[in-house]
Amino acid sequence: MSELEEVTQRFLHHQSAAEKFETSETPQRVLDEVSLEGVARYIKSGNCKNIIFMTGAGISTSAGLPDFRTETTGLYDQLQEYELPNPQRMFEIRYFKERPEPFFKLVKSLYPGAFKPTPSHYFIRLMCEKNIVRRNYTQNIDTLDKIAGIEEELIVEAHGGFSTAHCIGESCLTEYPALWVKDEIFADRIPKCNQCGAVVKPDCAFFGEDMPRRFEHLVVEDFSKCDLLIVAGTTLVVQPFASMIHKVPASTPRLLVNYELSGKADPLMKFMGRGVGFNFGYTDNYRDVFYWGSCDEGFYRLAELLGLKEELERLIKTEHQKLDAAASSK
Ligand SMILES: [Zn+2]
Repeated sequence: MSELEEVTQRFLHHQSAAEKFETSETPQRVLDEVSLEGVARYIKSGNCKNIIFMTGAGISTSAGLPDFRTETTGLYDQLQEYELPNPQRMFEIRYFKERPEPFFKLVKSLYPGAFKPTPSHYFIRLMCEKNIVRRNYTQNIDTLDKIAGIEEELIVEAHGGFSTAHCIGESCLTEYPALWVKDEIFADRIPKCNQCGAVVKPDCAFFGEDMPRRFEHLVVEDFSKCDLLIVAGTTLVVQPFASMIHKVPASTPRLLVNYELSGKADPLMKFMGRGVGFNFGYTDNYRDVFYWGSCDEGFYRLAELLGLKEELERLIKTEHQKLDAAASSK
């Protein structure tokens, strides 16, 4: 069996096991109230020790990272010359192989290291330091989780990252150091392999590429043990994130912190008995909490309810001072 087949098999096996689990288990009501206050009391009860965070672009927006999906940002205008049918195209591996320029132009303006983590990142770190976080899954490739000081072992970059890079030549795949790739990008050159001449791409996963192996492996282990799922700043439209919220046990409370209601169950699918989304607004909702607002607001409020707001503010202040000092000494 090839590596790819093996991963696929394991993933499918896990999926069917999770579905069985979800339908056969009688859910327990864990929250005394389906609200942010209820979630805070549950965390404080000491019964919640395996929190999983799932985060997307929304937790990084207050860092000043431009949102390339918004047509009004200058970034999107800059990419107009490439006549992309839509901005997501530049993350499609087939498109990238023909036209890598838009991706590298975008990467240059978003390059990790130029931005400071947000209150949301530090809230996650604070929860990690209380030893109640099992894992922090992020869709982001901005590496702000690492910069915020969250232990690397606890971070899963679902879409990979910039710490390594490889030649995309199929019979070559030579690895290149991240620093060399960065220098090429900042010199406005497309990084090219010196062995075969193909483009060298940072190891962030594109649409049409496999997910990083560490991700595949850990999802299986982590989600069955999750006792609180916190989803923040993601619209849950990109797989595999979209389906991951169903991988937690049926009793596990799920909190969504976001500007828009995302991942809500479709009434027809729900009627047919398929676990396909959050149960916001349904009378049988016993576990799904929605905080409507920015991630930073939501996490400040949760920190306050947990009695940790001052600790969070202190952490942000000292860590930002450290980053400023490091930046000015360069
Ligand atoms: Zn090569």
